[in-house]
Amino acid sequence: MNMKFDFNNPTRILFGSGMLNELGNQPMPGKKAMVLISNGKSTKANGYLDRTLDQLHKAGVETAVFAGIMENPLKEAVMKGAVFARENLCDFIVALGGGAVLDSSVAISAMATNDGDLWDYVVGGTGKGKPLSNKGLPIVTITTTSGTGSEVNCWGVISNLETKEKIGFGDPMLVPVLAIVDPELIRTVPPKYTAYQGFDALFHNTEVMMSNGVNILSETIALSAIENIVKYLPVAVRDGNNLEARERIAYGSTMAGITMQLTSTTAQHSMEHAMSAYHHNLPHGAGLIMISKEFAQFFIDKHACDGQFIKMARVMGIPEADKPEDFITALLKLQEECGVADLKMSDFGIQKDECMTLAVNAHETMGGLFLANPCEMSDEECAAVFEKSYK
Ligand SMILES: [Zn+2]
Repeated sequence: MNMKFDFNNPTRILFGSGMLNELGNQPMPGKKAMVLISNGKSTKANGYLDRTLDQLHKAGVETAVFAGIMENPLKEAVMKGAVFARENLCDFIVALGGGAVLDSSVAISAMATNDGDLWDYVVGGTGKGKPLSNKGLPIVTITTTSGTGSEVNCWGVISNLETKEKIGFGDPMLVPVLAIVDPELIRTVPPKYTAYQGFDALFHNTEVMMSNGVNILSETIALSAIENIVKYLPVAVRDGNNLEARERIAYGSTMAGITMQLTSTTAQHSMEHAMSAYHHNLPHGAGLIMISKEFAQFFIDKHACDGQFIKMARVMGIPEADKPEDFITALLKLQEECGVADLKMSDFGIQKDECMTLAVNAHETMGGLFLANPCEMSDEECAAVFEKSYK
């Protein structure tokens, strides 16, 4: 067991049902908030926006609402958001929404105070990798989904349609100052997205477990998160209003956000980013589900981390697990129970002859995550994982 770690999680987390009502009692990091929401209707229709604005006004701050973030957020939306923050003299950001909104807030925070284009600062792919000159705007996150864990970390995934890249952007100085995780807000997520997002949260934790950088603390957090997600995700998919299930999954998702600061995820995430960079309508969680069995099977065949798979299987409903394949058994059962076992790449326009292109893109764009894999994976082997996953 790796007994070394470097942990710095400066985000204050207010976790629990009803916590949104506490926002107005918190000290705010500025005087005027840019309230960032998606371009969809739900945040307004559910009353979350009005409740958040009321709380912010109660805390004595002014607000300006920017409703321009889409799923798989684009660089253009980030740049528009940054201009909006400057024009409206906002001195902090309140990101209210799901992963796309929270991810965008990191990039908008940076671009509101740094000149040039986001891709000047992106590391990897065609990004120029320049260091940020100025601190970003402080960020407060209020998550309305359980998936990305972005509420507590300083990374966000942004897509560049021009270059067909989907890359994680971030900087430790962009970490949110306050995160409100109120599972009551998550009850309105429809079943399909509950499943996609729940699996995303699950894979953040399972990838930390598979990573060669796993340590005693990241493993302890990840196993606790996995246990809660696996037990309660089918419940939340069946009945979104089951608050206990929402609480447990929200816990697992936020804990993933924390454990990912201790230990990196693996190339499964690079591979999914390649898929949705080329197929923009593919939800992140759905892409991960499609490749998850074969990705794990690759490392099981190589005996790269047998013990880690067994530990996971034991908290995934197979307490007597004694072989790495038990992880696959538990994973497939969960996919069945959540109604996502039949997801097909072809339904999202992916062609079988793209597998090598995707493998090369995954390596070129987010090659760093391949270094976290428990053993090497060549482009050919990566393409083979895509091929075996293809339906
Ligand atoms: Zn993810």
